[in-house]
Amino acid sequence: MRIQDIQVGEIEIPLKKPFKTALREVNVLENVVVKIITDTGNIGYGEAAITPVITGDIMGSIKWAILEHIGPKLIGKSIENFEELMYLLDNSLINNPSPKAAVDMALYDLYGQLYKLPVYKLLGGYRNEIITDITISVNEPDEMAQDSLNAVKRGYKTLKIKVGRDWKKDLERLKVIRQAIGHDVRIRVDVNQGWKPKEAVMIIRKMEDLGLDIELVEQPVKANDLKGLKFVTDNVTLPILADESCFSPLDAINIIQNRASDMVNIKLMKAGGIHNALKICHIAEVFGVECMIGCMMESKIGLTAASHLAGGKMNITKFDLDSPNLLAEDPIYGGSQYDEYKITLTEKPGLGFDKIEDVIYD
Ligand SMILES: [Mg+2]
Repeated sequence: MRIQDIQVGEIEIPLKKPFKTALREVNVLENVVVKIITDTGNIGYGEAAITPVITGDIMGSIKWAILEHIGPKLIGKSIENFEELMYLLDNSLINNPSPKAAVDMALYDLYGQLYKLPVYKLLGGYRNEIITDITISVNEPDEMAQDSLNAVKRGYKTLKIKVGRDWKKDLERLKVIRQAIGHDVRIRVDVNQGWKPKEAVMIIRKMEDLGLDIELVEQPVKANDLKGLKFVTDNVTLPILADESCFSPLDAINIIQNRASDMVNIKLMKAGGIHNALKICHIAEVFGVECMIGCMMESKIGLTAASHLAGGKMNITKFDLDSPNLLAEDPIYGGSQYDEYKITLTEKPGLGFDKIEDVIYD
């Protein structure tokens, strides 16, 4: 099975409701889709999310990286030489994790098709069902409490609350939400780098004292401030999760060896795909550190790849793979099945896509 052609296109999907965090507001998903065609007629699909304020990867740079730098190195190569493909992908250009992730997932899709196994089984086959949380957008406390209650009624057992702009109001939001949903539902909090280290310690201790029953706090301080992150981790009881601080396997080594956080959040768009995400997962496992798997605003293409990674590995224990549930339409046929909080991996070879509509290829 040899790679004959690599194409890129754009996909646009409206959201059910604007997605608001401390950093941005999104109304429409606009991502890059990559399609790898082989001489056997097999097709592998991948996706890259546009996140200028997180990875720096934007529409033009993603397409250019794939078409001009990654593609030419892979065309003509055999899927059987998978290790070589991953080496060429990693060394095609530095940084640019999102275009690399898109190509990586399309290659895994083909690798699974070649050996007629679903990707999660190639990766270890630990589970075929995943229970995701759901993110509640930042709004007025009463609206967030109502959104939280609606999510609980739909079966969600874990809510992710975005905070970080105004800590007093954030505590108010968390109190109102906790009152509305009771204590049977987990609440995890994502600060998206919103606080200074000392401020973070003060606010998280208040959360602890108020009995808000928070599961973990994600990325309280700036991405590059590992000393600040460690200061927070050392001075609070609640578990701290590194997200924007942990892109690559090397980042994971630095964070985990310094005990700068209690857990790390793996995202394919940060790591550059499944093959590097596996390295992070294994590094963490060696140190007894558990991983969360998260996502950017991706369609079911990217989330099928992420859920297959989650299905493969025991050391990924927390799941934040909700973005397809925030979308108003689903033009992706096949792939992982989303039924609100429950994601079921199919037994089809590769990532199991049947048809992907609404992509405009260049
Ligand atoms: Mg996060």
